[in-house]
Amino acid sequence: MKRQFYKKIAEQCVVEELLSEKIARDILLSSDVELISLLDSAYMVRKKFVGNSVTIHVINNAQNGYCPEDCHYCAQAKSSQADIEEYPLKSDQEILREAKRAHEGGAHRYCMVFAGRGPSQKRIEHLARLIRDIKSQCPIEVCVSAGLLDHDKAQVLAQAGLDRLNHNLNTSARHYSKICTTHTYKDRLNTLQAARKAGLQICSGVILGMGETIEDVLEMAYTLRELSVESIPVNFFIPIPGVQIKEQPTLTPEYCLRVLCLYRFLNPKAEIRIAAGRERYLRSMEVMALYPANSLFLDGYLNAKGSQRTRTFQMIKDGGFTISSEYSIDELIAAETSTSNTGQEDLAVEIIMKDLKSLRPELGSSNPGT
Ligand code: SF4
Repeated sequence: MKRQFYKKIAEQCVVEELLSEKIARDILLSSDVELISLLDSAYMVRKKFVGNSVTIHVINNAQNGYCPEDCHYCAQAKSSQADIEEYPLKSDQEILREAKRAHEGGAHRYCMVFAGRGPSQKRIEHLARLIRDIKSQCPIEVCVSAGLLDHDKAQVLAQAGLDRLNHNLNTSARHYSKICTTHTYKDRLNTLQAARKAGLQICSGVILGMGETIEDVLEMAYTLRELSVESIPVNFFIPIPGVQIKEQPTLTPEYCLRVLCLYRFLNPKAEIRIAAGRERYLRSMEVMALYPANSLFLDGYLNAKGSQRTRTFQMIKDGGFTISSEYSIDELIAAETSTSNTGQEDLAVEIIMKDLKSLRPELGSSNPGT
């Protein structure tokens, strides 16, 4: 494609003009659309609306397992055979201590996840107390993911000071029954609408790599725009052994980057997050995802570990980005390396000398030649 094509996309998106479906599809699929030019356009849009910084989120898996739902991608689902160590709800003190640790570790936002179909009235009141405690003791934004909610329950959380409610679309309306049978796509939309009506910011994202088509990926991107969500986690399916969905070979690093660019173009003001699976699927291209995306998770995901903190901080720094935290990246790296041996190893560039076997491989064979 000519330079004009990429320039026009950026110009359209910085004035929040909607891209056509033809262009959106080409962004994902056409070999004429060059990745590096696309990333450049996405960065122009990112910079205009959310600057050059990276917002760090830390997830707290507040309760592990005991979920009656059957989301086919989830290790905590009743239908999952995954080998997880279940535990009931953590104590308030434990959750609070972890919020403080997240803040001291550079997190801007603390995301508490509660497995289950949706909270009871008693659980909602408990969550409201917890939100108040965290907000009064720690300068961190709070997000809750607690399943299906109605307006009254969302309002209790909003009044307690909750900043955002997370409830992912996960996949398209068409594909939803293939990834879950215990609740519907409509149930999820209702929860998002209840949260919006209660005045909460919305975090709602997708999981790619669960057998969806390009049409599904496009539909989700346009739907999230219609919902004006403030935050979009783009997850790449992690095939934890024992979950119902099997890994599919669709997620190349290039494709993942194209999806992130598309989500930035269609949701120019949103916080776009490289979420679960960034390490597994983006691999050596990971830092490039920060051109369209402006947020990531530190310390892994719900049930799967992510890369080490120091590696993530170093990647942000090496890419020339800053972080939204009262601590600088250098301070955070220094704090990590002073308290953890693992951190030091992670940052070290170890020099390993070649031995004779690598220098002269033929010496070891039976026919060294002449
Ligand atoms: S994604 Fe949430 S609701 Fe679905 S099975 Fe997992 S914990 Fe339960």
